[in-house]
Amino acid sequence: MKRTVEIAGAGIAGLTTGLAFAQKGWRVRVHEQGSALCNRREGIFIWENGLRVLDALGVLTPTIAGASGPARYERRNHDDKTFSNGHFGGDFRLFVVLRETLVGALHDALVETGGEIVFNSRAIGAQPDGRLHLADENTVHADLVVAADGVNSSIRDSLGLLRWRRAANLYGYHAVIPLDRSEYAADAGSTHYEYWNGSRRLFYAPCSGVSAYVQLTSPVGDNAGSAASADRLFWRQLFPAVTWIVDRLPGECDREWFETVRLESWSSGRVAIIGSAATAQPPILGHEIGCSLAAAYALAQMIDSAGDIVSGLVQWELCERPITHWIQWLAHWYAQVALLPAGARIAVLKAIDASEWTKPRILLAGICRDMAAAGRLSQAAAADTFIYPLIH
Ligand SMILES: Cc1cc2nc3c(=O)[nH]c(=O)nc-3n(C[C@H](O)[C@H](O)[C@H](O)COP(=O)(O)OP(=O)(O)OC[C@H]3O[C@@H](n4cnc5c(N)ncnc54)[C@H](O)[C@@H]3O)c2cc1C
Repeated sequence: MKRTVEIAGAGIAGLTTGLAFAQKGWRVRVHEQGSALCNRREGIFIWENGLRVLDALGVLTPTIAGASGPARYERRNHDDKTFSNGHFGGDFRLFVVLRETLVGALHDALVETGGEIVFNSRAIGAQPDGRLHLADENTVHADLVVAADGVNSSIRDSLGLLRWRRAANLYGYHAVIPLDRSEYAADAGSTHYEYWNGSRRLFYAPCSGVSAYVQLTSPVGDNAGSAASADRLFWRQLFPAVTWIVDRLPGECDREWFETVRLESWSSGRVAIIGSAATAQPPILGHEIGCSLAAAYALAQMIDSAGDIVSGLVQWELCERPITHWIQWLAHWYAQVALLPAGARIAVLKAIDASEWTKPRILLAGICRDMAAAGRLSQAAAADTFIYPLIH
């Protein structure tokens, strides 16, 4: 008899979890409330840790096809003066890819491996004994239920697992803009730019498909910056040096409030909570997908090898939660830098860039985590170390 997993939500977390279990021979069914995969136009940062998970799952090549790893970053004031810069890479990789590319690669691999995706199937709650309740009044039962239904997870809330949601007091517009081939081949195709004007920020990162990801962030209460759709004239005046970016923004940009989610527990009985439902964080460091990919991969490793589901879930949470909390904490406080007076913010960002002590602790611990090594570790060793080996 194959073991079974019912997953709510066909976002990145749900599809990755489904693929990881399907590759272990489980019968996988993913319930997606929409009539198709949700393909929001956004760029996704995937650092070394996430790339290793995708590689272990066999979907790295299609995910990074056409994406060039960025070479450098620059932070500038609105008057175009650079106040800090540096290089990515060397000892770790970073790719920025279109969300639809990653979702497509995960979906195709899941279907090829025998997983099933049911569209127009909305989950409304779950029971610790492994029952998943659907909006069409059906209830399905599985060895394991996974809630990957996003930051407003109804399953998490039906189980009373939410401890708190903390607003970062920032929100952001997100968009993907086209580049032409000559721009993509030049600096604009290999440099991340972060422009600041007061607490408002314009972030630009080239990504796959001759395009770039743009994020515009403002503090809560900034009425001028919070129009239902990004006001191009307003943003042009703030950042005159990069009107070429602002002018390419689409008429409608997605907008979201930044927040951190903390749970009492990542599981209840046979139900696991994963992705933004458990690990939402301000998308400022670009680490959230890394947390979701790592948690999904580890979940399948640990449950599959554990004698029983509940003890596998306990071990999974022990291993994954400490480092994820650390990354969420960093993302929250890094986002708060935006709310500092300009001089203090510049000093903090410069200090972070300059400190060889800080960088490994802030970034590399999460980025360089070798999740694929989990499969090579004995369970006893994993339990002893609590976190998987770091290469730094
Ligand atoms: C604009 C933007 C940019 C971002 N950029 C980055 C980045 O660069 N790097 C990074 O690491 N992270 C980034 N993030 C965060 C990243 O997108 C999220 O971590 C990721 O999308 C979360 O994936 P998820 O699968 O948990 O949730 P979601 O992507 O929200 O997917 C949830 C899925 O579940 C479905 N669903 C919801 N409720 C139900 C239900 N009740 N029943 C069935 N299905 C349901 C939804 O339709 C959706 O398909 C960004 C987020 C945003 C919004």
